[in-house]
Amino acid sequence: MLIGLTGGIGSGKSLAGEFFKSKNIDVIDADDLSRIALAKKGEGYSEFLNIFGEDFLDANSEIDRKALREFIFKNPGMKNRLEEIIHPIVQNGILKFLNNSNSLYAIVIVPLIAETNSSSHYDRVLAIECKKNIQIERASTRDNSSEEQIVKIIQSQSSTEDRNKIANDVVKNNGTKEEFIMNLEEIHKKYLTLINND
Ligand code: ADP
Repeated sequence: MLIGLTGGIGSGKSLAGEFFKSKNIDVIDADDLSRIALAKKGEGYSEFLNIFGEDFLDANSEIDRKALREFIFKNPGMKNRLEEIIHPIVQNGILKFLNNSNSLYAIVIVPLIAETNSSSHYDRVLAIECKKNIQIERASTRDNSSEEQIVKIIQSQSSTEDRNKIANDVVKNNGTKEEFIMNLEEIHKKYLTLINND
């Protein structure tokens, strides 16, 4: 069984991923794969330079992801070009992960399942729901970003309502970490039951 784990920025996807790993469930994060794809030795690095040039390189010849993100925000037309580079590499990475996975079920963390209409890639979608003000506070603290930047990202993502529409299960993360973990325990139990009844 393959679970797509989704949610807005700062909603708690990574924390949920850590929880599932602690249950010996294989977890992969699509964002990590895209970061690896654009790293200096990554599969997408030279193609990136061919298309975007060297303007985004820092002193170590690494792609400055923050500068790139800001550029894409201002030039949405270039987003497709970037996705054409990254998408096949990420897809391939997920396939490899699945081929090597033998945990009871597997989880792929993908922030943009609703935005990319890709819920059919998964047996089930799990959405993490978090109130906007809490999301802003947690994400800006974690990333050392301004609240305005986080708000911009939230506005570019699906609404909670749209995300919940495509989800089979929704877990709320508005309270303490302990409460969140308790909610995740319930979902883990539910998945095990679903597998056993299959
Ligand atoms: P995402 O992966 O969805 O962007 P994270 O899992 O990284 O979100 O969570 C964002 C930040 O908020 C992290 O620093 C995380 O440790 C923290 N966090 C997540 N859930 C809680 C919670 N219930 N209470 C306090 N901090 C939390």
